[in-house]
Amino acid sequence: MKPIISKNQNPISTKKMNLKLYTAQFRYGGKDRIDITSRTSDKLGRLFAPPWSLVSDYKEGKLDENKYTDIYTNILIQSIASNSTVWIEFIALRRVTFVCYCRAGDFCHRIIAAHFCITMASIVEYIGERMSPKWIVDCPGFSPNEIDLNKKI
Ligand SMILES: [Zn+2]
Repeated sequence: MKPIISKNQNPISTKKMNLKLYTAQFRYGGKDRIDITSRTSDKLGRLFAPPWSLVSDYKEGKLDENKYTDIYTNILIQSIASNSTVWIEFIALRRVTFVCYCRAGDFCHRIIAAHFCITMASIVEYIGERMSPKWIVDCPGFSPNEIDLNKKI
């Protein structure tokens, strides 16, 4: 099995207050909303924004869901390494909702991002998709045990 990051090496797992994390479609307007689309201008949203090239490769069918998830997860790992101050700011929040354009239940990076956060920071609790009958949305292709931070950091 590949090594996974230990919680005490991880700069984003040090705070004590829990962060409740939700996901929603773009039209959700709550104050805890964070736009994580590739075009976001939100400082915290940028932590989770996929590069447009990744989105367009997926839309054009050049990447399947598993490959997209793999590449995007590695981008998030690098994001922690290069933006640890902003990550700590993010993790200090009490409640956030990641939004992007996808319909609830579709394959979507907001769900991957949510699963990434609960894997990397034990204080994060993923409550689920707002306004969805399916409370916790499955995340095909995301395998926390395969996150290999030694490879990237
Ligand atoms: Zn999406």
